[in-house]
Amino acid sequence: MLSVTPIPVLKDNYAYFLEDQATGETAVVDPSRALEVEAFLERQEKGLTYILNTHHHWDHVGGNEDLAKGHGARVVGFKGDRGRLPGQSVFLEDNEIFALGASRARVLHIPGHTLGHVAYYFEEDACVFTGDTLFHLGCGRLFEGTPDQMWTSLLRLAALPQDTRVFCGHEYMLLNLAFARYIAPQDKELEDLVLDFERARAKGEALVGFPLSFEMRFNPFLRCLLDAPGEALALFTRRRLEKDAF
Ligand SMILES: [Zn+2]
Repeated sequence: MLSVTPIPVLKDNYAYFLEDQATGETAVVDPSRALEVEAFLERQEKGLTYILNTHHHWDHVGGNEDLAKGHGARVVGFKGDRGRLPGQSVFLEDNEIFALGASRARVLHIPGHTLGHVAYYFEEDACVFTGDTLFHLGCGRLFEGTPDQMWTSLLRLAALPQDTRVFCGHEYMLLNLAFARYIAPQDKELEDLVLDFERARAKGEALVGFPLSFEMRFNPFLRCLLDAPGEALALFTRRRLEKDAF
C-alpha cells in the first residue's frame, strides 16, 4: 500500500510525498524547491529515499539537489532527460517498473509538454502522477512536443483503468474549469462543480486525486474523443491553441 500526501509548493505547484506502508521507503514527486518539503518531512519525522521527477522544468526539479544531499535520496527520472534533471542517478526506460519498497510504478513516457516527460503509474494503488501532461480539467502546454505527440500521450493516460486517481503538478482546477465551461457552456453538471470547488479552495483544500473517469467526462481536451470521434486530434489541436490564448 502506498500513501500519498500533496505538499503545496510555490504559488500553485504540488509536490507529493509517497510512503510505501510495507517497508517505510519514501519518495517525493517533483519537489519545486526544498523548503516546503523539508518542513513537511520535519513535521512528519520522515526521511527520503527517492526523488521522482516527471520532467525537467525548474518548478519540478528545483529542490532535487538540496533534498538529495540532505537525506541521501536518489534522484529518479527518464533516461531521455539525462543531463536535465539535477542530481539524477536512476535512469528509467519507458514501461520500466520502478519499485518504491513493495509499491510498484510503471514508467509511462508521455512526451508533448516536454520530450522527456514521464508519468509514474502505481497500478495496484490505482494512482498516477501526471506532472504537467494531464491536469484536472486541462493539459500542459506544448513546449517541446507536437499536438500529435501530446494527444497520443493523453490517450495513453486515458486508457488506464477509470478509477485511477490523477495527481497532477499544479492546482489549476478553477482556472481550467473556467475554460471547460467556455467550451461546454450548456453542460449543467460542469456548472454545478463551480461552487463546491470554490468553497474547497477557499478552505485551502488540494483539488487533486480525482479519478480518470472524472477527466473523461469533463476535461475539455479528453472530451475531444467524444466531441469529435474520427477527428479528435484536429479538435484537440484547435482547443489547445484556443486555451493558450484564453
Ligand atoms: Zn512543466
